[in-house]
Amino acid sequence: MAGIPTITFSNGHKMPMLGLGTYKSQMGDVKRAVKDAIDLGYRHIDTAFFYVNEKEIGEAIRDKIKDGSVTREDLFITTKLWNNFHKEEHVVPACKQSLANLGLDYVDLFLVHWPFAFKEGDDLWPTDAAGNVCESNIDYLETWRGMEECVHQGLTRSIGISNYNSEQITRLLKSAKIAPVNNQIEVNINVNQEKLIDFCKKHNITVTAYSPLGQPGNSAGVDNKLNNPVILQLAKKYNKTPAQIALRYVYQHGTAPIPKSVTKSRIKENTEFFDFTLTSDEMNAIRKLGTGERVAFFAP
Ligand code: NDP
Repeated sequence: MAGIPTITFSNGHKMPMLGLGTYKSQMGDVKRAVKDAIDLGYRHIDTAFFYVNEKEIGEAIRDKIKDGSVTREDLFITTKLWNNFHKEEHVVPACKQSLANLGLDYVDLFLVHWPFAFKEGDDLWPTDAAGNVCESNIDYLETWRGMEECVHQGLTRSIGISNYNSEQITRLLKSAKIAPVNNQIEVNINVNQEKLIDFCKKHNITVTAYSPLGQPGNSAGVDNKLNNPVILQLAKKYNKTPAQIALRYVYQHGTAPIPKSVTKSRIKENTEFFDFTLTSDEMNAIRKLGTGERVAFFAP
């Protein structure tokens, strides 16, 4: 396939406009999926400490480097700081832990996964007796100082945020010494995020689109619209699949989709949306299908 386009960050580094998502890609599946993806032309892999799969992903990456398929420089690896490591002094150790899991010297992009903190400790999802998650009041401005230190120590090339809204970004930009280069947010047919994407663009922040397919079969029960007649008709017109129409819609919003799949045929299918363009009428027709319903657990 033709090369995947890149977008240039405000700091000059480049990110491929398609990545492999790996949330819920579990032991056994994910190593093979990452190797298949690299063989199929993916150069951008998205993971997180919270996904508990950094180790296998790192093994796949190192195998593909060792067999000569790619070099480390060819790849763009993202991981994320989990909510219970938000204290300034915990950020560098958490980043080093992710690097140790991955078996890499640096990541390309380290993101604050969510703009709020959980109680510290090893329990990734601390809850009280009533089952409510135990939050902590650590300010994300404090967390950001730790993120900046990760850049100073060469642990990551770039730093960014995830699930931040425009108010949180404005507040962060006022005190940041190193500006975030990327915001990773939910973008799909239901949630097109046009306002937030515009806001990010004005502030030189690129956007990565998570759950770009609307997470088919999501536990929130949200209809991702892939079977909607509008999408089926466009799929027929362009000789594409509904998933490829959804990815193209998200891409034409200027965002980099990171569809997750552990199925080789779908990993390939999800690369094939760079060779056609939806007209503005078609973009509008898809826009009208959006209900604003999210699949992500916490709505930012
Ligand atoms: P997606 O919208 O990527 O949907 C993934 C699901 O779609 C899987 O069940 C997959 O199945 C299926 N699928 C993949 N390709 C196709 C296709 N071509 N046709 C039909 N079904 C398909 O949802 P995710 O929530 O996984 O989002 C993508 C990635 O974004 C995550 O994996 C993660 O890396 C990131 N993310 C980040 C978040 C954040 O807070 N920053 C939150 C949520 C996600 P199968 O694997 O069986 O092929």
